[in-house]
Amino acid sequence: MSTKGLLIVLSGPSGVGKGTVCSALRSLVPDLVYSVSATTRKPRMGEVDGVNYFFKEREQFLSMIENDQLLEFAEYVGNYYGTPRDFVEETIANGKDIILEIEVQGALKVKEKFPEGIFIFLTPPSLDELKDRIVGRGTENQATIDHRMSVAVDEMELIRHYDYAVVNDEINHACKRIESIIIAEHCKVVK
Ligand code: ADP
Ligand code: 5GP
Repeated sequence: MSTKGLLIVLSGPSGVGKGTVCSALRSLVPDLVYSVSATTRKPRMGEVDGVNYFFKEREQFLSMIENDQLLEFAEYVGNYYGTPRDFVEETIANGKDIILEIEVQGALKVKEKFPEGIFIFLTPPSLDELKDRIVGRGTENQATIDHRMSVAVDEMELIRHYDYAVVNDEINHACKRIESIIIAEHCKVVK
């Protein structure tokens, strides 16, 4: 029996509630380790470097790519986002479960490298609700909201590459569904 931890990827369109669900999940599953991404996006109000993201200048990010420090990266709506590799690999090797909260292109790249990972697509109850959530978050201007919504429509098409689809209707319900997936994955018989 493997003593490695699970690599869990939580993906889905911007504004669906990945960040919100992930924070709630961390209270429900306290042993779950969260991967902090690097990004060239500027911090939003209240975001802390090293907690929400490692905020990088473009040159710093490009040098992380060049030095193979990222497990995956993607350019999303004008900024780079990427997952620091060592932390993920060390966490799994130490037998702990880790969750990556990333967009769809990056998730598919992780799947090529870690096909044994667990890929969960978080869906909105509807596209209208998705738009209301992005607008309601109040962090983006109109042009960025429109851009994120048009990307979201394409992203929804890629759900077929995932192992699980979880609807984020209510935060607590979505978290319970993900907790059940993690428990079930730990109970799988390895053939
Ligand atoms: P993402 O990380 O996927 O971009 P966020 O976690 O930032 O999305 O959530 C986007 C907005 O939607 C936030 O204002 C958040 O409070 C809200 N939200 C998240 N989940 C729900 C839900 N289940 N019901 C209603 N609003 C939600
Ligand atoms: P935001 O700017 O709203 O924080 O993030 C924009 C999108 O980038 C979200 O869908 C978020 O999940 C995704 N994202 C965050 N970190 C990473 C990462 O390390 N890699 C990839 N590919 N996407 C990420």
